[in-house]
Amino acid sequence: MADRDFLDWPFFDPEHRELALGLEAWAATQIAPFEYQEDDVDALSRRFVRVLGEGGWLRHCVPAAFGGARDRLDVRSLCLARETLARVSGLADFAFAMQGLGSGPISLFGSPEQKAAYLPPVARGERVAAFAISEPDAGSDVAALATTAHQDGGGWVLSGTKTWISNAGIADHYVVFARTGEPTSGAKGLSAFIVDAARWA
Ligand SMILES: Cc1cc2nc3c(=O)[nH]c(=O)nc-3n(C[C@H](O)[C@H](O)[C@H](O)COP(=O)(O)OP(=O)(O)OC[C@H]3O[C@@H](n4cnc5c(N)ncnc54)[C@H](O)[C@@H]3O)c2cc1C
Repeated sequence: MADRDFLDWPFFDPEHRELALGLEAWAATQIAPFEYQEDDVDALSRRFVRVLGEGGWLRHCVPAAFGGARDRLDVRSLCLARETLARVSGLADFAFAMQGLGSGPISLFGSPEQKAAYLPPVARGERVAAFAISEPDAGSDVAALATTAHQDGGGWVLSGTKTWISNAGIADHYVVFARTGEPTSGAKGLSAFIVDAARWA
């Protein structure tokens, strides 16, 4: 077992220690045996999302009011979960991280209806989440983002190209960033949209 002395540091509370040690023991039987047994990485990723949800670990990705573990997202919990999973399986860490990243904008800025619809199934591992911000010419410089969104009747039309999108093709929803302001509006002209894969396909 890895050196876990750092869990005694005063930055952590008993729940953090419980999370790190509990997840480590759980991952040894629920993740490690499967890491190299599946050639289909998409299927394995979906499997890891499902079992992480069933194990209750994805509850750290959403707030308590919508099925989460704590009232607010707790960064130390997310870091501990990620480093614990990453030592067992890079893909399991990725699956955990993407559930948080693809639901984080909804947790932080979604309407009550959006939170109620999307966050509980993300926490249960029943919905795979994705986050689509990067573009061929907008990586670190997110303010250069060129995808546009304009209103059309009762909905919005998004036009542009995304790249590097983790969970693309297997996600149930995508939080997609697009420009709703003037072309010169930089970072302040960006909005986030929830795009359901079922409607998108
Ligand atoms: C495995 C993987 C998964 C990803 N998943 C997603 C995803 O799910 N959703 C999504 O939206 N994106 C995703 N990305 C994209 C990722 O967020 C971008 O790769 C990242 O933002 C960097 O953009 P870039 O690759 O265009 O590199 P660039 O922005 O072109 O940067 C290239 C290099 O230049 C450096 N650099 C850039 N600007 C400066 C500066 N001003 N000063 C000094 N150095 C600078 C950078 O540090 C980097 O080393 C993923 C990327 C990878 C590799």
